[in-house]
Amino acid sequence: MPHYEFFCNACKKTFDRILTMAEHDDAEKTVCPRCGSHEVEQRWSAFSAVTSKKSA
Ligand SMILES: [Zn+2]
Repeated sequence: MPHYEFFCNACKKTFDRILTMAEHDDAEKTVCPRCGSHEVEQRWSAFSAVTSKKSA
């Protein structure tokens, strides 16, 4: 399944979402799961997939 990484500008955290194609079309409606902010941006982390997965 497609897996997308987002960054929240409000709480400065990244989070992962698994989105279907339809949901991805609505990605602008994605909100931060931590603070509920809409100020999230999608990260294209294909190259830097080395982000620490430990601190989830
Ligand atoms: Zn947030």
